[in-house]
Amino acid sequence: MSQGICYLVGAGPGDPGLMTLRGKECIEIADVIVYDYLSNAEFLHWAKPGAEMIYAGKKSKNHAIPQGGINELLVEKAKEGKIVTRLKGGDPLVFGRGGEEAEELREAGVPFEFVPGISSSIAGPAYAGIPVTHRDHCSQLTIFTGHERPDKETSSIDYEQIANAPGTKVMLMGVERLPLITSSLIEAGADSDLPVALVRWATTGQHRTITGTVATIAEIAEREEFKAPAVAVFGTVVNCRENLNWFEERPLSGKRVVVTRTRAQASKMSRMLRELGADVLEMPTIKIQQPSGDDAREFAETVADAHTYDWIIFTSPNAVEHFFEAFYKIREDARAIGGCRIAAVGPGTAAKLKEYRMATDLMPETHVADAIPEAFEKEFGSVENTTILWPRAKGARDTLSKKLNEAGAILDDPVAYETVPETDDPTGAVKRFQEEGADFITFTSASTVEGFLDLGLSIPDETAIASIGPVTSAALVENGYDPDREAESSDIPGLVAAVLELAKEEPFGED
Ligand code: SAH
Repeated sequence: MSQGICYLVGAGPGDPGLMTLRGKECIEIADVIVYDYLSNAEFLHWAKPGAEMIYAGKKSKNHAIPQGGINELLVEKAKEGKIVTRLKGGDPLVFGRGGEEAEELREAGVPFEFVPGISSSIAGPAYAGIPVTHRDHCSQLTIFTGHERPDKETSSIDYEQIANAPGTKVMLMGVERLPLITSSLIEAGADSDLPVALVRWATTGQHRTITGTVATIAEIAEREEFKAPAVAVFGTVVNCRENLNWFEERPLSGKRVVVTRTRAQASKMSRMLRELGADVLEMPTIKIQQPSGDDAREFAETVADAHTYDWIIFTSPNAVEHFFEAFYKIREDARAIGGCRIAAVGPGTAAKLKEYRMATDLMPETHVADAIPEAFEKEFGSVENTTILWPRAKGARDTLSKKLNEAGAILDDPVAYETVPETDDPTGAVKRFQEEGADFITFTSASTVEGFLDLGLSIPDETAIASIGPVTSAALVENGYDPDREAESSDIPGLVAAVLELAKEEPFGED
């Protein structure tokens, strides 16, 4: 049996961009992923299909698996010869118990690797506009825990030492015990006017900051119902925030936006929204899959004969992808496509063709499938007796086939893919949407609307709806939802712009 290994990986504070490249690799190759409450669930998308996901929990008091159990699990899985990736919030060795887990792995003879991560102790302040060190303010940084080991009878925090240490002090854990901690610090000689900032869910879409002083922060936190997880920063560097607060100024800061596209297609849109400060909830409502049964057989046969057609028409990037995936399964040489010419419905489809090094010979002026026959006739005259292959989506409108057949073309239109509702919810997005709601929900096609409804979900009144274009809006209206805004240009940047406009209009909002 091959030897397993355990990667103890720091997942960073939450923003997926703050995961290291090595950390991402470890997720991609893992057979088993053991993850925590604090690590961002979006990372799980990087896992290979079929990887086992184990939630190890870690809300204080409420451990899903007790620490001993986690260690045993890591050892057991690695001993089965598996690649185990243990994801931990922030850095695994900064109040992360990575050291303890590694000791057990070593004792059991299981190889391990530490993959450091960006600790919330540094990133939290940074995203709140607070440099933890600054030459005008300090030359020392202390990181301490406000959490007591439950087995200790006396306090494990040396208040005297912390109160009198010069420079910036960053506290992890312990927001729940702020009144005791701050009063003990003042008693031990800390300056009660020293600025303090608390940063909650730092670097994520739920990021929030409050500020006060050692004397006032506990009361402010209570009033604002400011709960864990939060980082506390003590020091005059907190004042830099007035000038350097960059993250919280973004236009969608503190707003949750739901993306309903397929998992495979969501990332570009999510990235654009995150850059605007949004808390993006990827909740795919549809997925694209291979044709099945007779459809699959027919598609494979047609792809094998692709070189015999005069034209191939592509009406979506998905069709391009499925066609070439099937094509290169049976062909090793790109020239096997022969001399056929290629039509694309619009720029998105043409761009996908370009990825396969295929040029587009024909594109209609209006980017709808039904406009293709006219474009043909205008450019090339009659299509009579022209052999055409149109790999299409299952259930696609058949106006295009009708028009081409009527014009005398010899058409084959096999099913290249089908769109089905996404029932998998590995990141718990559906649950979060139901429990916590969202400020905005976006739909990128009529099928995302249908997939959403097929999941038995509904859109609450306080959630504004953005639609990518007229067909999607019509699907919403048909189902009793009025889109609050339709994108001016029917593409992802247009839809993101629509969300931004909605955010400007929004009369409500707590911030
Ligand atoms: N290893 C982690 C810390 C684990 S201890 C790290 O290096 O960041 C858990 C504590 O970390 C929480 O109680 C909180 O104080 C802090 N923390 C972790 N992620 C956080 C986040 N995104 N925002 C604010 N605090 C966070």
